[in-house]
Amino acid sequence: MAINRRDFLKFSAGTGLMLTAGATSGTAAQAPQLSKDAVGILYDSTLCIGCKSCMVNCKLANSEPGGALYHQETAGKIPFEHSAGDKDKIYDAPQNLSSNTLCVIKAHRNEGKTNPGSGSPTFSFIKQHCLHCIEPACVSVCPVAALQKQKDTGIVTYNKNKCFGCRYCQIACPFNVPAYEWEKASPSVVKCQLCNHRYAQGKYSACCESCPTGASIFGRVEDLREEAKRRLALKPGDSYAYPVQRVDGKKRTEQVVATYVNHIYGMDEAGGTQYLFMAGVQFDKLGFNPRITNQIYPDYTWNYVSHVPILIGSLLVAGTVTRLVTQRLEKKKNDAGKGDAS
Ligand code: SF4
Ligand code: SF4
Ligand code: SF4
Repeated sequence: MAINRRDFLKFSAGTGLMLTAGATSGTAAQAPQLSKDAVGILYDSTLCIGCKSCMVNCKLANSEPGGALYHQETAGKIPFEHSAGDKDKIYDAPQNLSSNTLCVIKAHRNEGKTNPGSGSPTFSFIKQHCLHCIEPACVSVCPVAALQKQKDTGIVTYNKNKCFGCRYCQIACPFNVPAYEWEKASPSVVKCQLCNHRYAQGKYSACCESCPTGASIFGRVEDLREEAKRRLALKPGDSYAYPVQRVDGKKRTEQVVATYVNHIYGMDEAGGTQYLFMAGVQFDKLGFNPRITNQIYPDYTWNYVSHVPILIGSLLVAGTVTRLVTQRLEKKKNDAGKGDAS
């Protein structure tokens, strides 16, 4: 049995869920629209040295009030993740995106390429976080508009006060980005929000701010696209003054141009993304799913999930119940705490 969007909305309403106006709005198959003020990141794997400074600064910046990892009850604590062998808990060593990690650097061994002389293997790095899709599947399936695409900046933001925990966004995202706080009494979805909490202070994405090589740069998507095209036109072995931190900034670093794969990932994939990638090896060798097409994902996703209404129903009911129960428990705990204090 297939259901359409209207049936889905009716079903959601029938389960007692309040749907906000504008949630799951129709997604006619039009060319994705990019606002001229849309901001994003260009990541150039050929410049990345795998230092993980971006991961560290991301965690620090997002543990501050307003950040995607900030919780009042754990204010001042950075959510480090320690590996099993790290008894002294020295290193923050996340292996993947999680409810405590919005940004992760992964290393991939370059097949058949070794360092001349030593013969040791060579690696390419890739930085993974939300791609801020121009037509985000996560936004299109969120029944309560907890995930929204901002009109001007194009940033895909999350409002935990609206979310009821169906985790439908997790299933819809083609890039496996949203994480869920399973460990918390009142869980939320967690993902990069492009550090939008820092813009009012004149700051920008923390991962780009701390990147020493210019591998990650922040800016208007239009400018980032131009910069990426400029790099593809460069001659390997020549020298180029790569911008550092921001595409429109003064800071530059002179580097030898690598041999690029002739593709800017994110120009078209999934209908286009505001996070763009360049690399020296094929993207499927860097963990990108080759099955991701240029099709706009909200329509694609809906086409798939409309044939599995049981899944939708189970998620909605389970999510609602879990969220309501945990919120009630938390309220009870807080009320009891207030009683003790008085
Ligand atoms: S990458 Fe996933 S979570 Fe991020 S905007 Fe796209 S669909 Fe949403
Ligand atoms: S933009 Fe901000 S939240 Fe997103 S990966 Fe970079 S530092 Fe982390
Ligand atoms: S800070 Fe820059 S060079 Fe270091 S790992 Fe991150 S993207 Fe790569």
